[in-house]
Amino acid sequence: MDTTLVPQYICECNGKNYSDDKKLKLHMKTQGHLSWEMKNEMKSLKIELTKRDNIIASLERKLLERDQRIMVLKERSKVLKNCLQSKLDDL
Ligand SMILES: [Zn+2]
Repeated sequence: MDTTLVPQYICECNGKNYSDDKKLKLHMKTQGHLSWEMKNEMKSLKIELTKRDNIIASLERKLLERDQRIMVLKERSKVLKNCLQSKLDDL
């Protein structure tokens, strides 16, 4: 018998095969199934949260690098200004 042609009403939460669509739908309203759904949702939310935390950390790193680059440029500009001023003073 080719089982792929037979409609299957298997729920992922328990792997049980329900005899028809109605029974599966009824099962999906049970506390057991709902709490499994909630757990699943929490799991994917946690994964999403971790991903976002990683993005934030990488953005913070980039900001820090930019701040450091700005400091270097400011310092260089100060040196150039002083240099120019001393050249003007020499005139
Ligand atoms: Zn279920």
